[in-house]
Amino acid sequence: MMFDRYLQALEAQHLLRRLRTIESSDATRITVDGRSLILMASNNYLGLANHPAVKQAATQAIAQWGVGSGASRLISGTAKPHQELEEQLAHFKQTKSALVFGSGYATNVGVIPALAEKEGLILADRLCHASLIDGCRLAKAELRVFHHNDTSHLQKLLEKKSARRPTLIVTEGVFSMDGDLAPLSALHHLAQSYEASLLVDDAHGTGVLGASGRGTLEHFGIQAHSCFQMGTLSKAIGTSGGYVVGTNAFIQYVINTARSFMYTTAPPPAIMAAASAAISLIQAEPERRSRLWKNRERMYTGLKAMGFSFTETQSPILPILVQDPEKALAMSESLSRAGVYVPAIRPPTVPKGSSRLRLTVTSEHTEEHLESVIKACKKVGEDLRLI
Ligand SMILES: *Cc1c(COP(=O)(O)O)cnc(C)c1O
Repeated sequence: MMFDRYLQALEAQHLLRRLRTIESSDATRITVDGRSLILMASNNYLGLANHPAVKQAATQAIAQWGVGSGASRLISGTAKPHQELEEQLAHFKQTKSALVFGSGYATNVGVIPALAEKEGLILADRLCHASLIDGCRLAKAELRVFHHNDTSHLQKLLEKKSARRPTLIVTEGVFSMDGDLAPLSALHHLAQSYEASLLVDDAHGTGVLGASGRGTLEHFGIQAHSCFQMGTLSKAIGTSGGYVVGTNAFIQYVINTARSFMYTTAPPPAIMAAASAAISLIQAEPERRSRLWKNRERMYTGLKAMGFSFTETQSPILPILVQDPEKALAMSESLSRAGVYVPAIRPPTVPKGSSRLRLTVTSEHTEEHLESVIKACKKVGEDLRLI
């Protein structure tokens, strides 16, 4: 069988992926094969996926609206929880309007073709998330890739284009696999100088960065209406879904053109109600963000001092570079035996030769969790001669 051969070849290269069944999980622990492990792999940065108020908002909405949404919103209408969440998102992101999608992935594959013009040009960072790349491929515009966070390379590409060619620059606010930030002030400046548009995927910035947790734009002091912005409900917001924000006209345009909005069932009202509750908590409880950053500093400085090699991370995403996929798997397995759950990230999720262990810290990890993880990493790192 062709399938078997393909899978065997992947396994031989240490690139085969397998699903693991989790018996239970909360913000900081999961149970796998009957063993409870400290969870260092979730994007539930603020613990909101497990917050009582968020769960209650979902169950109340289920009681009122049922579970499924029935059809696309263009067919069966917009339930109140969708509308309320969109108003809240627009307000949170300081824009006029917002639109939710079934996932962040669906948002990107819908929004990029809507933003890019047929004869236009898309310039995307090399480390952009697969959903951004797929969105760029679906768009009819020409796609060029610039070196990661390299504004001079981007400028060269901008200089080459004809002045009137519609151009869209695509980046992430916080890069999902490296944890570093885009040089957003410089990108914004370049976009203005060359009359290009800028789309920021703020999946990992929202709820995490900025004085009020509004995300990467707030962190850099960039006006929300001066670029396009999308994000997910699935990370710090702790639920599921994606969104895009912008002017009323832009959002109406997306409603009328984005196929991944038009031709798919609306996300469940209960999830929208839960996301609203989570955003309220992000705004009402800034101490969650303070705890997150304090935990992040503890973990990063602890591991860095031991000699682990990291990406240029500036966020709660802490990728330990081990290069070789076999070594990354071995480290992940050893950590699991030591009671810590951290996934090995391998190609094609990251470029060849840059396999890594991607630890993510949350506000909910306790001092004891962090100390156990640091201790386990030291032992495993020494055993594998990484430090
Ligand atoms: C997770 C992620 C997405 C996709 O979001 P989902 O809601 O999981 O589909 C898009 N972009 C980036 C940068 C992400 O990290």
